[in-house]
Amino acid sequence: MSPLPGLDILLLAAFIVILAGSWLALRQANRGRRSAQLPAGRIVYADTGNWRPPEKPLFSPTHGLTGKPDYLVETRAGIIPVEVKSGTTPPDPYPSHVLQLAAYCLLTEEMSGQAPQYGLIRYPHSVFRVDYTQALRGELLRVLGNMRADSREAKRHAVHRSHDEPQRCAGCGYRQRCDQSLV
Ligand code: SF4
Repeated sequence: MSPLPGLDILLLAAFIVILAGSWLALRQANRGRRSAQLPAGRIVYADTGNWRPPEKPLFSPTHGLTGKPDYLVETRAGIIPVEVKSGTTPPDPYPSHVLQLAAYCLLTEEMSGQAPQYGLIRYPHSVFRVDYTQALRGELLRVLGNMRADSREAKRHAVHRSHDEPQRCAGCGYRQRCDQSLV
């Protein structure tokens, strides 16, 4: 197992699942589901009686990833995660939702020691089963790697303060969020 990640990775981990949706929406909108190897999922009947919300977020030190699925379900095949989405029910789950569910599958795998066979995405009018395949797992790890690389790249190109004038910072509207403020 990898050692515990450093502070940067922990901070990244805290946001990584949240960012996955918007990141994918931007990156994969033009690539299509097939090239991203994301399964389409299929509609299933789901008995929600044994759906239980997790008590706390799941965390993977191995992958520097954290997240909290809406539900975890104990089945004869093991624990599976469920993600609930509001809004319009699409004919197939959105790629960003599939990838988010894959992240919860990975976290469930780490937590239980057993990879879930699938996860569920519940929209208002349908529940989709998405198989947690090796291809989907590999795609998730590739995306996480790209996100980390993008984060490192963004830090490299961060804009630095161009002055030494505290009074400018004192009157700056970004001061509360700026880590280079002089006051
Ligand atoms: S607070 Fe930050 S953004 Fe604002 S003037 Fe100072 S260094 Fe620039």
